[in-house]
Amino acid sequence: MKILQDQRFRQQREAFNLRFNCEHCALFDEQRETCAHGYPTTEHRQAHYDDPTALVVFCKHFELA
Ligand code: SF4
Repeated sequence: MKILQDQRFRQQREAFNLRFNCEHCALFDEQRETCAHGYPTTEHRQAHYDDPTALVVFCKHFELA
């Protein structure tokens, strides 16, 4: 599911230290920068959200590390 990222989301992401990116996922291989399940990571990486207009894409396989 892709949803619009608004100002409130950005504020709350910071305020609550929301973890939802590959970098915080137990399935992320930091050395190879890949997903252990082989899923594409581009839209789930932290860097994707440097763009304030980027759509929010939650990964349904996310496992908090
Ligand atoms: S399961 Fe999803 S959030 Fe976790 S590393 Fe793979 S693509 Fe990223």
